[in-house]
Amino acid sequence: THQDLIDRDRKVTFHASTHLRDFANGDAAGRVITGGKGINIIDKDGREFIDGFAGLYCVNIGYGRTEVAEAIYQQALEMAYYHTYVGHSNEPQIALSEKILELAGPGMSKVYYGLGGSDANETQLKLVRYYNNVLGRPQKKKVISRQRGYHGSGLATGSLTGLKAFHDQFDLPMAGILHTEAPYYYHRAAEQQGMSEREFSAWCAGKLEEMILAEGPDTVAAFIGEPVLGTGGIVPPPEGYWEAIQAVLDKYDILLIADEVVCGFGRIGADFGSHKYGIKPDLITVAKGLTSAYQPLSGVIVGDRVWKVLEQGTGELGPIGHGWTYSGHALGCAAALANLAIIEREKLTQNAVDTGGYLQQRMQQAFGNHPIVGEARGVGMLAALEFSVDPESRCHFDPSLKVGPRIAAAAMEENLIARAMPQGDILGFAPPLIATRDDIDEIVARTERAVNKVTDELVR
Ligand code: PLP
Repeated sequence: THQDLIDRDRKVTFHASTHLRDFANGDAAGRVITGGKGINIIDKDGREFIDGFAGLYCVNIGYGRTEVAEAIYQQALEMAYYHTYVGHSNEPQIALSEKILELAGPGMSKVYYGLGGSDANETQLKLVRYYNNVLGRPQKKKVISRQRGYHGSGLATGSLTGLKAFHDQFDLPMAGILHTEAPYYYHRAAEQQGMSEREFSAWCAGKLEEMILAEGPDTVAAFIGEPVLGTGGIVPPPEGYWEAIQAVLDKYDILLIADEVVCGFGRIGADFGSHKYGIKPDLITVAKGLTSAYQPLSGVIVGDRVWKVLEQGTGELGPIGHGWTYSGHALGCAAALANLAIIEREKLTQNAVDTGGYLQQRMQQAFGNHPIVGEARGVGMLAALEFSVDPESRCHFDPSLKVGPRIAAAAMEENLIARAMPQGDILGFAPPLIATRDDIDEIVARTERAVNKVTDELVR
């Protein structure tokens, strides 16, 4: 039975973002997922949920796509694995790199693979150091990330992540990783201080410049950011933000890493978030939507400017001291090719514009004037509701009320998965890109019931 499986799981497994003791004791809930079809997942009891978050914003093509399963199976029969060290390759890897570079557009040279977003960003950190070593300036190695940025969960990548829980428990961030202001117009209440979005963007860029000058520009190697801040709250950039940031980075010869793990491959209605916001990254990180999670796969896309330097390094420095056993795994690359073919054939990136636009519109209609919603925001198939005790003054609820998690739990009772984001009372949505307008109507209707239920409890 479902309960037997959960009990067995409690004995032998522990889980991310979970209260470890409560889960082991049986005080925190578990669930075993057995299948999925389209935008729905099904648990062991046969209960069906709309997955309003596409797993962890990754199942862009939806669940149960046999075409991808077939591609993986065929590749496994032919050649499941051989390593990609010292020049070894496989056909899916070659075809996938060509495809990724075609989607990324001019200025991008090479791809290197990993298994998840965290290891890909780990590769980025090493490439940035290698780059400056080749240029003979090894002291230029600090990396600036942003408060509320999310870039992974290892020691170095968890340091890049700008969320409190990822730091406090592990004595992070590591030396040499710094965090500048998040482009969080709502949160900073900048508007109320009479600042326009553009002025706020200029203020963020000014803060970045102050930090670079305080650290010494010759010690700062790179800046990393998500085109749309994801796990930190689903925050689209204010007007003029990337332009202003990019100008500061150019001034001090600092590389820009665009972490496109969430935005890449259609999520916000463009092949890459960088295209949507006119960002010109030197390095791009991809994962999630690359395979729609049918296999674990991530990638680092290296731009011409960086590549031209890296390729000079090999003489003096020798072969690059970096590599993963599973880099360019043939099954991951085969899954990615099948996934990208579906995204292209079914015009899912365009659907993120059209149906995504409808999602934004419906969220505004339903929550734009709701007594506990401070802001309904988003772009494409990425949306968030930020709750506030008083939308006018933007005051947050007392954290002990756990408003965000309670609304997510109420949504679960409605058989809808929406994500209580880890910091602040924010409910996140990232439906699979195959969602239709009817699906969006259903997501919004269930969300309304959940939000209203908790509103009633809070008022009582
Ligand atoms: N970068 C971004 C923007 C992410 O959202 C995530 C995960 O959510 C990561 C990196 C880390 O990816 P992974 O969990 O696959 O290591």
